[in-house]
Amino acid sequence: MISTKVAERRINHDVGRTGRIYKMAPKGSSWACRCSGCRNFDQIRPNGYPIEFKLLLKSLGINPKKEAHLKYIVPAGEGEALYAGTYGFIGEMPEAKELPPVIAGQDVFEPLGGRVWVSIRPWREPPGVWYGKPTLRLEFLMVLPWLLDEEQLEVREMRCAG
Ligand SMILES: [Zn+2]
Repeated sequence: MISTKVAERRINHDVGRTGRIYKMAPKGSSWACRCSGCRNFDQIRPNGYPIEFKLLLKSLGINPKKEAHLKYIVPAGEGEALYAGTYGFIGEMPEAKELPPVIAGQDVFEPLGGRVWVSIRPWREPPGVWYGKPTLRLEFLMVLPWLLDEEQLEVREMRCAG
């Protein structure tokens, strides 16, 4: 475990173990939904991510192609869209006991730069390959360009729930 600070939170994390688990993980959650928002995301991730976010994922040992959850939220402006998602990684938060209890989707996000906001929290019942392991969740909100040659949805589809 190495100690680092991300988005105002002190965390300990294990890059090697995280990398081994990502080898077993299925492809990213956007593949479970074929709405235009998710197909647009597929064209951007991972090379089109803002550099600040790419560096953060790399430092945590996260495979950027294998997000655990992904949601298209809304158009964010001319030719842009807002996304929310989650990546898992192995680690612990020594300060977690001092945090108020929250549930996924109600986190307080900190700006990372590059129009990305992140939140790190313990993942009490992580799914799939993370199950039973000391997992943290990296939640993100991110504005990305709209590359598809089709209109953006004004409201996301119900199935686009990661
Ligand atoms: Zn979708």
